[in-house]
Amino acid sequence: MIYCDAHCHLMPDDVFLNAHNLGVKTFFVNSTTPDDWLRIVDLGRRVLGVHVCAGVHPWFVDALPPDWNRRLERFLTDYPDAMIGEIGLDTTRPFYPLQKRVFQICLDIASRYRRKVHIHCVKAWDDLFEILGQYRDVQPLFHRFSGDEVIVQKLRLFNAYFSVTNGRVINVIPDNRLLVETDAPDGLKDPARIPELVRSLHLDVNYLQQNLELFLYDV
Ligand SMILES: [Zn+2]
Repeated sequence: MIYCDAHCHLMPDDVFLNAHNLGVKTFFVNSTTPDDWLRIVDLGRRVLGVHVCAGVHPWFVDALPPDWNRRLERFLTDYPDAMIGEIGLDTTRPFYPLQKRVFQICLDIASRYRRKVHIHCVKAWDDLFEILGQYRDVQPLFHRFSGDEVIVQKLRLFNAYFSVTNGRVINVIPDNRLLVETDAPDGLKDPARIPELVRSLHLDVNYLQQNLELFLYDV
């Protein structure tokens, strides 16, 4: 059985190696600030199956260096396989107007560099639709998805994928758009817990693997 952790963050190598031994062969490792970007590239040189996601988390937009967007463009030029993540909107956190500006710039870069995006969206769906609607060519994956059926239907127009850490909203997500994640070191804490999560949600591993390939090779 092979598994994917569709959303996690930087952790010590042995955490990834242990998960790898337990069958978790793909990790979408997301950044929170520009300092993470090259560290994830380095991690990928030591651990097989790491996909680099370079982004700016909406919780940390206030601490961005002024040249962050030029750095992101340069990074994407240097690493043509890198995706963008995590980025997004969160009305429960401060600096919301700045979050919106940063999110828009990231989507603009994603569109120009043709990269998939890993999105965090908490209680900000109206603004998300307004901004994402300007970038129809960008392929989004919504992590720790928390929306309802109406939001899923709207997001299907964007060919969105969804990843979850539990079964709370699993029934509203189309089978062929579903992935699972730990959001480790937060969330479920450890990518080694993916097999247990898949079992507890009664999901078909082969189906999840197919969805992963659909997401990766969807153009
Ligand atoms: Zn995250």
